[in-house]
Amino acid sequence: MNLEKFKRYPLNFGPTPIEKLSRLSEFLGGEVEIYAKREDCNCGLAFGGNKIRKLEYIVPDALASGADTLVTIGGVQSNHTRLVAATAAKIGMKCRLVQESWVPFQDAVYDRVGNILMSRVMGAEIELVDEGFDIGIRESWENAIEDVKAKGGVPYPIPAGASEHPYGGLGYVRFAEEVREQEAEMGIQFDYIVVCTVTGSTMAGMVVGFAADGRAQKVIGIDASGTPEKNHEQVLRIARHTADLVELGQEITAEDIIIKDDYAYPAYGVPSDETNDAIRIAARTEGMMTDPVYEGKSMQGLIDLTRKGFFPKGAKILYAHLGGVPAINAYSYIYRNG
Ligand SMILES: *Cc1c(COP(=O)(O)O)cnc(C)c1O
Repeated sequence: MNLEKFKRYPLNFGPTPIEKLSRLSEFLGGEVEIYAKREDCNCGLAFGGNKIRKLEYIVPDALASGADTLVTIGGVQSNHTRLVAATAAKIGMKCRLVQESWVPFQDAVYDRVGNILMSRVMGAEIELVDEGFDIGIRESWENAIEDVKAKGGVPYPIPAGASEHPYGGLGYVRFAEEVREQEAEMGIQFDYIVVCTVTGSTMAGMVVGFAADGRAQKVIGIDASGTPEKNHEQVLRIARHTADLVELGQEITAEDIIIKDDYAYPAYGVPSDETNDAIRIAARTEGMMTDPVYEGKSMQGLIDLTRKGFFPKGAKILYAHLGGVPAINAYSYIYRNG
């Protein structure tokens, strides 16, 4: 595998910490050991999260392109758009965001708090568009790119979640390399990696990275998109492309992509009662906050799979905490009593 040939612009503070979740493990019966890799604490850019690790491999290309404006798209409470806005500020570019109505959820301050609040404060130009959820390429985004050009700017387009970008999967290949180094230091090996998946490049990068030591099928994706077949297709496509880029030397097959689709209900961005229970369990056993859109659902998956005995006794499980907590502010009414 050859990841070193790609330029990386450091945005993370360094390797993200791995923390043992002893009280959560005990709470769930004490038969498995749960750890978290804290991608939510990875940097100083507007609360951080997984998009920063992806952007480390995209920024060098943006700088080399001569662009002056990063253009991207997401839902109203998108973490990705917040982190592109932060990255643009950090590297001295402008930022243009298209924010669509991907989430059928109402809260009095939904479009005023959390992620979108920070993107505004960081100076991004924001356009709210009334379009529904789709993880593919959107017309509104293409229009924004044209509009930047028409106004004399030089856009650098980054697709939703940075997933369809040619280098979108590289950051999480590096995640696997980093985990291997930390495993060597800790003297342990993780049997499973649990990760939330929506636009796909986080999981795709991990599958490629862990395929290098035979653990591709130990990466357990928890779908939060509510469109699991599309998600599977997208993860597989990005993983294959990324495997080619890094010269993995083995094929990624459909069977290598393990996605659990039981937890995204009732819809993308809308938490179920069970998601909210999972959020409270992680918060009350570990002081670890998760959000109602992404990590609350992967936490729900982790809890449910553990309770069902999916993980063999004694298994060491690494939960990738990908960030996303700012969005919880847009769900204030749900958590008004905790
Ligand atoms: C974007 C995001 C995900 C999903 O990652 P993909 O690469 O889009 O699959 C999960 N959790 C959080 C907090 C995110 O912001």
